[in-house]
Amino acid sequence: MYELHFDNTFVRELPGDTAEGSQPRQVEGALYSLVQPTPVMAPRVLAYSAEMAQTLGFSDADLASPEFALAFSGNRLLKGMQPYAANYGGHQFGVWAGQLGDGRAISLGETITAAGQRWELQLKGAGPTPYSRGADGRAVLRSSLREFLCSEAMHHLGVPTTRALSLLSTGDKVVRDMFYDGHPGDEPGAIVCRVAPSFIRFGNFELPASRGDVGLLRQLVDFTIRRDFAELSGEGEALYAEWFGQICERTAVMVAHWMRVGFVHGVMNTDNMSILGLTIDYGPYGWIDNFDQDWTPNTTDANRRRYRFGQQPNVAWWNLSRLAAALAPLFTGIEALQAGLDRYVAVYAALDRSTIAAKLGLAECRDDDVTLMDALHDLLQQAEVDMTLFFRGLSTVDMLAPSLLPLHEAFYDDSKRRDAEPAFQAWLQTYAARVADDSLSAEQRHARMQAANPRYVLRNYLAQQAIDRAEQGDVEAIDELLEVLRHPYDDQPGREHYAQKRPDWARHKAGCSMLSCSS
Ligand code: AMP
Ligand code: MG
Repeated sequence: MYELHFDNTFVRELPGDTAEGSQPRQVEGALYSLVQPTPVMAPRVLAYSAEMAQTLGFSDADLASPEFALAFSGNRLLKGMQPYAANYGGHQFGVWAGQLGDGRAISLGETITAAGQRWELQLKGAGPTPYSRGADGRAVLRSSLREFLCSEAMHHLGVPTTRALSLLSTGDKVVRDMFYDGHPGDEPGAIVCRVAPSFIRFGNFELPASRGDVGLLRQLVDFTIRRDFAELSGEGEALYAEWFGQICERTAVMVAHWMRVGFVHGVMNTDNMSILGLTIDYGPYGWIDNFDQDWTPNTTDANRRRYRFGQQPNVAWWNLSRLAAALAPLFTGIEALQAGLDRYVAVYAALDRSTIAAKLGLAECRDDDVTLMDALHDLLQQAEVDMTLFFRGLSTVDMLAPSLLPLHEAFYDDSKRRDAEPAFQAWLQTYAARVADDSLSAEQRHARMQAANPRYVLRNYLAQQAIDRAEQGDVEAIDELLEVLRHPYDDQPGREHYAQKRPDWARHKAGCSMLSCSS
């Protein structure tokens, strides 16, 4: 098999745990613990990302070889791998939770590709670590399949994200109480190998800061800037300030994309926020079907809805403010950190406007276009309209004689549609007048809208259908869906059914409209 080249800077340059083994413990003065994956019974590759495999240098023969399944289940390591679990803390649902760490993720190492890119390989579900807090360190097929598919789908949508190389079944059973109702059951176990230039999270900085360990905090900051932000120059506080500003900016970019495509992360705790502004930790995430700013897929958050769709830009700011508080000991005053947070606000506001222009197919976003989009959002929310179908369909409406007819399929409820029809008609008239006053040609507007409004997203029910089939042994379902999601902005003749709105049966079905954290 192709020999990966490893350069494991994280474990080489940073202090690690002095204790061994995976018994649960508080780990002080260290940023990780070396730990071995626990072997699984019968590893089998269910799916892989052809793009990621190619980027890393694997051939088709490699992917089919027994060595591949052994390596990416954690059963037999490849030369140069140095497995470790990272030590981090985090604010969960607004509350400081102390040490968390990689409880079921084990990094295998940092590989350098022939093109000179650094990619860290990390198994999710590879067994207990010192951070498992009594849990099993395993993952079930349904959640692993959801992470595998969604992270690749997000990449193809142009959303910054961690990637996935492979999805394997383990042959072992994992016990989960899916609804937390006292009825645990056996589920098939699985392991995703996820891939990113860095898996460092806000929580990696928060933990040493919370313990007053400024030396360790500074070591991690210097390392992160050196390895993951090598393009930054300068030194001392000015460098730290620019680095924090960059994190704020990248986070704004990520969240603006989420809002554009209708992605709801579901668990935006600070331990689930990547320092590179990548979407990370796909748990009970979901996609907006009917447009609803208040929707969250996460049953654990169903009452407070802290992480609801429309709240994500504010939550990201709050999370950045927690990171700022953690970094404060490295600064003489708070001005630079405040400036970073302000940069988040400014960049997000600018991106929000460019998203409006792109989604509506306008050359630029004027102040009254913001009002126009707000009004549309209100209509979509009240009348229960599918976000993806509506925006995609809007590009096909004849601006010389605007009619709601081509958009009827986006409505979930006919009577709500009839009630809202006059208001939509009035909105379309205003929009058509605005379009007439815009510098883009009809073709340009259409192309701009098609590039900003995907036709195919990983609708919650589509993922669930793939899970149901995969659990029955039909793994083709995964490849079929992945193939559709490779070209989310293209109309794909013959694959129209993947673009359909959520069917009625999926409205209140577990996995389709709501998900628990149990995974
Ligand atoms: P998450 O909500 O998935 O981001 O997980 C929060 C914390 O719980 C992290 O520290 C995870 O590593 C840990 N965790 C979640 N599931 C498991 C599991 N099955 N075994 C061990 N640790 C877990
Ligand atoms: Mg997490």
